[in-house]
Amino acid sequence: MNSRREKLTGVNESGGSQLTSSSDEPRRAADEITCQEFVELVTDYFEGVLSPRSLNLVEEHLVMCDWCVTYADQIRATVASLGELRSEPAPGEPSAAVLAALQKRRERSE
Ligand SMILES: [Zn+2]
Repeated sequence: MNSRREKLTGVNESGGSQLTSSSDEPRRAADEITCQEFVELVTDYFEGVLSPRSLNLVEEHLVMCDWCVTYADQIRATVASLGELRSEPAPGEPSAAVLAALQKRRERSE
């Protein structure tokens, strides 16, 4: 059996030293934000003044970062307690009235 790959002979030819690699920064996709950037955007997020693009970035970050989900919850509570949040329910979120109605109905049916 002679199935060795020819490439094996070329493996050690790249110098062996990593000193020349100056690009140590992890490559970051242009459409991702860091936790710090999230923190800076989150108040605007709850005030609904983010641009569609930033809004998209924030929501994408929330999908993959538990820490920021927790942080966002705290900010939401803070903003709500300050009364700065507009009375309109956030898009995709049932209003308090709807929730109350649902709860009543559930209580009756049991
Ligand atoms: Zn994060």
